Amino acid sequence: MLTNLADATTRNGETDFTLWLQGLRKEALQQGISTQTLDHALKGVRPIERVIELDHRQPEFTETFWNYLRARVTPHRIATGKRLLQRHHQLLQRMARHYGVPPRYLVAFWGLETNFGKYQGRFPTVNALVTLAYDPRRGEFFRVQALDALRILDQGHITANKMKGSWAGAIGQLQFMPSTFLANAVDGDNDGKKDVWSELPDVFASGANYLHHLGWRKEELWGREVQLPRQFDWQLTGLKTSKSLKTWSNLGVKRANGAPLPKADMQGAIVLPQGHEGPAFLVYNNFQVILKWNRAINYAIAVGHLADRMIGLPAIRNGRQADNRRLSYKLALELQQRLNALGFASGEPDGVPGARTRQAVRAYQQASGLPTDGYPSVALLEQLRRQKPPE
Ligand code: CA
Repeated sequence: MLTNLADATTRNGETDFTLWLQGLRKEALQQGISTQTLDHALKGVRPIERVIELDHRQPEFTETFWNYLRARVTPHRIATGKRLLQRHHQLLQRMARHYGVPPRYLVAFWGLETNFGKYQGRFPTVNALVTLAYDPRRGEFFRVQALDALRILDQGHITANKMKGSWAGAIGQLQFMPSTFLANAVDGDNDGKKDVWSELPDVFASGANYLHHLGWRKEELWGREVQLPRQFDWQLTGLKTSKSLKTWSNLGVKRANGAPLPKADMQGAIVLPQGHEGPAFLVYNNFQVILKWNRAINYAIAVGHLADRMIGLPAIRNGRQADNRRLSYKLALELQQRLNALGFASGEPDGVPGARTRQAVRAYQQASGLPTDGYPSVALLEQLRRQKPPE
């Protein structure tokens, strides 16, 4: 695909792209974006090869929860977060009162997305999005984002040459996609501009407003680490199984330190980001909200945990002894192929274990008398290798 695009732009593709861009421009005009904005924003725009390269790259491996967490919730980041919580106390309290999102969560998202605004990305947003919209792989999605980015410019929140962000078009200190910006960004300091790149009141108000729209419950936590009893029905783990705290308590679930769960009228699910040997978390509604921001379980736990650590709550207690070998892309492919061969349908092998693979892992574990945590580990692959496919 990369070669095709590179060829296309050097040979006959130059005209193809120019024609395509004229089509985009026409659509933007029809949507009411001004000629002036388009002249300025689309001037000199052409496909950026590096963006295509990044979009098409294959993940080398599935990162383990512990590696993911250790790289992101570092002592330095916790300390910086604490300091920033204090420095921006008044502003953050104002946001908390207005939108019902506690300060520590806003600062945690801020820390994970851009290291508190330090790494917002250097790709010119319109050009990056135009590149991805022109590439057929996810063209439709990115066409909408490109048009929305042009709309943001047309509304005058930022100038075209200052509108920079990630290679995938995420913008500002909280890395909103343009459509998220249009639906949720707020002018927090009332200067007429929603400047999520450099005005902190706008950054925090936009983040809080977005989380509020996603259904954040101000009186609830995101979740907590828990201790599961030795004899536990692992089938009950996973986001699909929601039970009351009382029920979990009756099933032997305790706080991480062994104390009973709080007596609150709440529902939660148990997630095991690194299988049954790793830590266990009881997660609440706000965890689902974080997943709407970014659907990776590891990300959602990292946000919650960073927020906790910034207010002095303890580090994760259990599960450090878990097998921390990561599944490379190649090994993940093999795992999927072997599950399929044994009749446990894990979908078309793609080297990226998702919900279907986890389901197949569970089915295999159940059939083999293993703890059914659905975790696609290297140990599981080793076990699969010892198994002969049915005749
Ligand atoms: Ca503003």
